[in-house]
Amino acid sequence: MTQGTSGNISARCAQGDEAGLLISPSGVDYDEMHPESLAWMRMDGEWSGPLKPSSEWRFHRDIYACRPEAGAVVHAHPTHATALAVQREAIPAFHYMVAVAGGYDIRCAPYATYGTEELSRNALAALVDRRACLLANHGLIAIGTDLRRAFALAVEVEALAHQYLLARATGTPTILDIAEMNRVLEKFKSYGANAQTAG
Ligand code: 13P
Ligand code: ZN
Repeated sequence: MTQGTSGNISARCAQGDEAGLLISPSGVDYDEMHPESLAWMRMDGEWSGPLKPSSEWRFHRDIYACRPEAGAVVHAHPTHATALAVQREAIPAFHYMVAVAGGYDIRCAPYATYGTEELSRNALAALVDRRACLLANHGLIAIGTDLRRAFALAVEVEALAHQYLLARATGTPTILDIAEMNRVLEKFKSYGANAQTAG
């Protein structure tokens, strides 16, 4: 999903009565990251840990503050999602699986410098009624109720971006209409029930 030290992950995690999150450290290679490298952060941005938390702590923190269902957040710069994000375009309903992010498209948040409050504001707006978005000239964000689901969604968005780029490069994709996407969104409410039962 990513290369070098790009991207970051977090999970909602309270300590006693204090709400907060565990977040990956800034600028550390994934191969050199250990559970002990994580920082714990309170909702006011105060943190403790052996290493400075990710420069993107603001959007991680703000997602937990605004989205009660969010248990984990994955941010990455995968090649195809980033290639689309550079064009500052949403992923439209070229495939029914676009509904996996919660709506009939996957928006692209306007550009803002990495690590800024402005980027967090832009990302939150692009995530309204969605579990994932692209970040212009940057990458993607995926939200899950837990880390496994957030990561799986990030992988799905990257696959959709890849398919959409290929489809556009070879022709003109047909976009599904809103009525069809609403049918898919309705079906998705019960899709995956087997996996939940299987644990
Ligand atoms: P961090 O190493 O600080 O998490 O930053 C990586 C990144 O992707 C910034 O957007
Ligand atoms: Zn990034």
